[in-house]
Amino acid sequence: MNQETGLQKPRGTKDILPDDQPYWQYVLDCAKNVVLGLGFRQINTPLYEDKRIFERGVGEGTDIVEKEIFLIESANSSDGEIDDVQYALRPEGTAGVTRSYIENGMSSWPQPVRLFYTGPMYRRERPQKGRYREHRQFGVEIFGDSSAKSDYLSIMSAYEILTKLGFSKLAVAINSIGCPDCRPKYLLKLKKYYSDKLDKVCDDCRRRYDQKPLRLLDCKNDGCRKIAEGAPQILDKLCAPCRAHFQQTLEYLDDFGIKFNLDPTLVRGLDYYTRTVFEISSHEDKERKTTLCGGGRYDNLAEVLGGNKTPAVGWGMGLDRVVAEIKASKVKIPKLRGVEVVILELGKTAKKVCKKIYSTFRDQNINVFYIPSNDTLRSQLKMASKLEADYAVIVGQREALSNSVIVRDLKQSTQEDMPMTKAINEIKEKYNSEIKNC
Ligand SMILES: [Zn+2]
Ligand SMILES: [Zn+2]
Repeated sequence: MNQETGLQKPRGTKDILPDDQPYWQYVLDCAKNVVLGLGFRQINTPLYEDKRIFERGVGEGTDIVEKEIFLIESANSSDGEIDDVQYALRPEGTAGVTRSYIENGMSSWPQPVRLFYTGPMYRRERPQKGRYREHRQFGVEIFGDSSAKSDYLSIMSAYEILTKLGFSKLAVAINSIGCPDCRPKYLLKLKKYYSDKLDKVCDDCRRRYDQKPLRLLDCKNDGCRKIAEGAPQILDKLCAPCRAHFQQTLEYLDDFGIKFNLDPTLVRGLDYYTRTVFEISSHEDKERKTTLCGGGRYDNLAEVLGGNKTPAVGWGMGLDRVVAEIKASKVKIPKLRGVEVVILELGKTAKKVCKKIYSTFRDQNINVFYIPSNDTLRSQLKMASKLEADYAVIVGQREALSNSVIVRDLKQSTQEDMPMTKAINEIKEKYNSEIKNC
């Protein structure tokens, strides 16, 4: 905290400092490369939306909407116009992307429409370890395909990203929570099972019993978990189409070698899910695992938000957690490009040559730093190493007249005289061969 002003970052947020940026860049590059290669295209939606989008989409009575949503004070604008819409910071990505799908008439695009997004999400929950009020997500949504192919593509894309990032012990948990045809019948059975156990469950569960009975199954409370394990399982009560869809999804996963565990207590907290729900954790071992990604199918959300009925499936990945895991695993990641070459000019006669070298490197996409200077070689070299450059190209009067340069390798502290074109080509080649992707 700043001692004088008391100013500090908001509770539950964090600064991502320069040292951590390479991790973020690495994760984002990898995620984008994977989904671009699978036919997804990027979408950006606002950080805030009409609050009703989250109430209807995520669901009234869910923890997110009841307790965790950040409302934005309706401001009077300077021209006296009063905004009568209540806005809220987005707690997750799917509702806003679905709103955009409807508003931009994407149902008339060739289907399915595959989209991905990345950005911060906001939940006003009590800050605790590993849970932030502002956290960053990467996510995908597939609209317009009700087949299990899209459930598979969705799960596989997340699995692929995490595998490429170096997670080798991923655990995929999967369940089906049915549809409006079969779920109500199951919920009756579930409530019957719980009806004589209400004195043994927590207060939250007693509330869920009336409002969100499905969520009785995913209470984290130990006592409640034991009771949930004995509850009737929804997989036994699915209607024939839901069962066939789930079966098909699992077959795809099998075919493509993605190992999964059926988890009958996995329901996910949001109202909009239908049929497939899944989570991917960092580790098979329960003690060591962190949930990195969660998602599912939401065939009724578009309709709830005022669009046509549109089948859809997607997931969101918590990037803060992914980055924390990668940092802890000490995986070597590519460093971000900084200053690569510094041009050191010694004396006025060198200026013209230096400018030429500068523009050649710049045109070749090499990060080159050049400020004409009258300083001594010694102090210019000091500046170059402060910039953490790889090479210094030194041009004095003698070099300028003979069209040569001195190339100093700043990391190895070696240097060599060579013709200017040779120097440019050698440095160029070095960087071209170094460009790597995830
Ligand atoms: Zn069903
Ligand atoms: Zn409970």
